[in-house]
Amino acid sequence: MSTTFTVVNPATEQAVAEVALADVATTDAAIERAHEAFPAWRDVAPGERARLLRRFAAVVDEHVEELAELEVRNAGHTWGNATWEAGNVRDCLNYYSATPERLFGKQIPVPGGIDVTFHEPLGVVGIIVPWNFPMPILAWGMAPALASGNTVVVKPAELTPLTAVRIAELALEAGLPEGVLTVLPGRGDVVGQRFVTHPLVRKVAFTGSTRVGKQVMAGCADQVKRCTLELGGKSANIVFADADLRAAAASSPYAVFDNAGQDCCARSRILVQRPAYDEFLGLLEGAVAGMKVLDPSDRDSEMGPLISAHQRSVVQGYVDEVDVAFTGPAPDGPGYWVPPTVVLAESTQQRIWREEVFGPVVAVLPFDDEADAVALANDTDYGLSGSIFTGDVGRALRVARGVQAGNLSVNSHSAVRYWTPFGGYKQSGLGRELGPDAPHAFTEEKNVFIAH
Ligand code: NAD
Repeated sequence: MSTTFTVVNPATEQAVAEVALADVATTDAAIERAHEAFPAWRDVAPGERARLLRRFAAVVDEHVEELAELEVRNAGHTWGNATWEAGNVRDCLNYYSATPERLFGKQIPVPGGIDVTFHEPLGVVGIIVPWNFPMPILAWGMAPALASGNTVVVKPAELTPLTAVRIAELALEAGLPEGVLTVLPGRGDVVGQRFVTHPLVRKVAFTGSTRVGKQVMAGCADQVKRCTLELGGKSANIVFADADLRAAAASSPYAVFDNAGQDCCARSRILVQRPAYDEFLGLLEGAVAGMKVLDPSDRDSEMGPLISAHQRSVVQGYVDEVDVAFTGPAPDGPGYWVPPTVVLAESTQQRIWREEVFGPVVAVLPFDDEADAVALANDTDYGLSGSIFTGDVGRALRVARGVQAGNLSVNSHSAVRYWTPFGGYKQSGLGRELGPDAPHAFTEEKNVFIAH
């Protein structure tokens, strides 16, 4: 088994770095160090833990450009996205730095005494990260887990370890004690699997494919280990005829082609109410043609390449099965490019309609009425996100309540914010990240009765 991994720039196909892969022994040693670091970290006074997290955020802030440049080179993310992502790490740390001083319990009325509850940290938390958003997904687990008093071990994706490694260095620079945050580049079936099987890891926060998520959940069952699963999606963007069609069409490419479609929230199915279908498609074609698909280091770039030659061939496999209605631009030359691609669905049984493509490909289908739209949107194993475009606020609320998905946006293409809960229905996952309650997912709630 190879002991190093060559990180490749997806826009140039050139090697960027050689990264050592942790084996089981290294992983076990890191978990044991995290376990040893836990009692002291748990007992850091709440105000001091808050101060350390704010200091960590400040150090990340000083390195936003450096982290963004690293992500442009490692993951092919556009400069605009990568700077947002590094800023998101800072913002999550700042937001959850309020946790240590606000990890409130309850006082519950009981006869014969009082009952109080505590939120106790779990111990070592393992965070497993996919390659599509290496920085935000690390932060969404790491920040609330650390804030609640846990120590953290992180496994970045094989393809994209560089920013996580750098963020762990910045944590030490900010004054977090040794062993509190450890990043372990390595294989999923070695390091990730060990987080699942090692008894000292008390929770696994997994983000990735539904296929691997099911294995993680099954593995965690063996030790009744907590897990949060953030998995795949096949989300619908529902456009009603009463919507501002121009605004809906202008926004729809960003709902699916952001990060070259390698987005769990990608609205990769567009449902358009029949009377607006032709007009919407015309507007969409113009919007897609106008996308700036450029080298990701170009500050104007709106879409970069796919992560790897393998991912490009997976995506191309879906495109080869269907008739393409129209595409946007893509550069010639090196890089794993696929243009933004629009397909008119012929049946809801097509693979392009049912499976997560994880590339810049969207399928469009007409619908008749509200009930039809909700039924089509829900006809999927997934339930992560979705959008509703309409001028009728009552309809927006009815449809938002009807669609079985965790994150919905009305007249907007995104619903992800670090201060609102994020997670999926059905096979899109289990549990919620982000928002004010996220720290509780990294604690055990304990009640203590005190007789008087
Ligand atoms: P993946 O499931 O292949 O890998 C995810 C992570 O799990 C990687 O770090 C990988 O090394 C690790 N892993 C692989 N096998 C493992 C095992 N047996 N035990 C433990 N860990 C293992 O997913 P990917 O291809 O890296 O990412 C794309 C997928 O992630 C898509 O399906 C996407 O929708 C999903 N995703 C979901 C969210 C969300 O929040 N719901 C966010 C981003 C990505």
